Amino acid sequence: MIDSQQHLKYLTDISNKDVTKLKLPPGAKIISNSEVDAFGTCERKHLFAFGYNKEPKFLSRSLAIGVCGHEILAVFYKSIKHGMTKKQAELTTMQHLSQFYIKGTYDPDVLNLVATLISRYIPYETISTTCEVLAVEEDFYMPIRDDYWYGMRLDLLVRVLVGKERGNVMLIDHKFTYDFFTDTDLDLNPQMPKYVPAVRLSGYPVHQAYINQIRWRFSPKVITEKNKTDEELFRFTSVGLTQARIRSAVKQQMMFSERILERRKLPFDLQIEESPPNQNKMVCRNCSFTKPCIMMSNEEDISGIMFTNYQDRTYGYSKHEIEA
Ligand code: SF4
Repeated sequence: MIDSQQHLKYLTDISNKDVTKLKLPPGAKIISNSEVDAFGTCERKHLFAFGYNKEPKFLSRSLAIGVCGHEILAVFYKSIKHGMTKKQAELTTMQHLSQFYIKGTYDPDVLNLVATLISRYIPYETISTTCEVLAVEEDFYMPIRDDYWYGMRLDLLVRVLVGKERGNVMLIDHKFTYDFFTDTDLDLNPQMPKYVPAVRLSGYPVHQAYINQIRWRFSPKVITEKNKTDEELFRFTSVGLTQARIRSAVKQQMMFSERILERRKLPFDLQIEESPPNQNKMVCRNCSFTKPCIMMSNEEDISGIMFTNYQDRTYGYSKHEIEA
C-alpha cells in the first residue's frame, strides 16, 4: 500500500540518478494529463469531458490545426526514428498530408495552413539531423496510488548527438499557437516540469525541456506572398527546468489527481452538484462546452445537445481505461 505523503516526497524528489523502469501493472486505471488539466481549469468542463465522457463532434479551427499539425509532425519524426533520411521523411510526411486531403479528414482551410507551415518547418528544423529520436507520441506513466497511475503522452523525446549538450536527453512539446508564448506564459506553464518524473520512471534521464512553437496566425497567402521569416513562424524555447519547478508541478498534479479520485466516488448526480462552473472569460473562450454549460446554468435539459453536438470521448487513454 502506497503511503501518500512518502510517495509524494519520492515523486517530487526523483532526479536523473533515480532513473528506473516501472511497469504499468495490469488493470491499473489511468488519470490522464488532459483530465487533470480540465479539472484544474474548470470543474464543470471536467464533468462534461470526463463525467459525461464527451468531446465535440466538430473541432474548432484552432483545435483542428493543433490536432492535424501534431499528427503530421508525428509522421515526420517517426520516419526519422525508423531510419529515414530527412528528405525521405519529408516525402512520407507530405504523402500523409495528401491522404488527409483525399479522405477529407480535416477542413481544406486547415489542411492548406498546416501544409504551408510544415513545408516551411521541415527545412528550418534541426532536431532530425542533430538528435537521436527516442520516442514520438509515446505514453509515459507514474504511480499515484497502487491502482491509479498518472498517464501523459509526450510529443517527442530526443538525445542530443552534437555540441556541448551532447548525450543530454530533451523533452519536446509541439505547440501550434496563434501567437508565441511570452516569458511569463512559459514560467507559469507546469506541463513540462510535471512530465519529468514520469519519463524518469520510464527509464530515461531528462536534462532539459523545450517548447517547439509553430505560429498559425498568418494565412498561407500571407506566409507565401509577404515572405514571412522563419523567426515570425517558429520558435524553439527552453522551459528552464529546475528541481523546484518539477517539485511544485508534481505536487499540484498529485493534489488534483487525489481530488479527481474522490470526485469519481460520488454518485453522478452529486458529481454534477459538486462541479462548479469557472465562468471566467479567458477560460471559457477556449472551452468546447459553452452551449451545454449555459443551458445547465439556466436549469435547462442538456440531454438533446449532448447527443447532437457531442460524441463519446475518443482521445487519450479511453482504450486503456475501457480495458482496465
Ligand atoms: S464554458 Fe466556462 S464555465 Fe462553462 S464548462 Fe466551459 S470553462 Fe467551465
